[in-house]
Amino acid sequence: MEIEAKCSCGQVGFKSTDKPIIQLCCHCSDCQDALGSEYATIAFFKVSSTDVFGGLKEKVYTADSGSRTVRELCSDCGTVMFDRSEGFSKLIGVMAQQIDSPFEAKPACHVWVKNKLPDVFIPTEMKQYQQGIE
Ligand SMILES: [Zn+2]
Ligand SMILES: [Zn+2]
Repeated sequence: MEIEAKCSCGQVGFKSTDKPIIQLCCHCSDCQDALGSEYATIAFFKVSSTDVFGGLKEKVYTADSGSRTVRELCSDCGTVMFDRSEGFSKLIGVMAQQIDSPFEAKPACHVWVKNKLPDVFIPTEMKQYQQGIE
């Protein structure tokens, strides 16, 4: 089964031959800033089973750990597509709302909850981490 994602103009595409290894909701300030939303729902795939095509531009941030973390946007329409971090170089995060159906995002946990905006409600049964997953 292939999973595909694309930006709103279709110039940037993503393909994976494998299921994501983890899906999560990230409340870190970098995701909030890049997406202009309360948090990001991200599916992480092994880079080795994925393909990315199209022109991207980068928004570079420094994670709390001091390592470089990048959000990649379509260079045409500006849709935020990917999350790549030095600390997790074998993984690529794909913004779940850009992934084509029948994929359905099923986040396993929320991370960087210490940055959560006050109005955001997280169901009590959901696993939460104050920071990232180690
Ligand atoms: Zn685009
Ligand atoms: Zn984040």
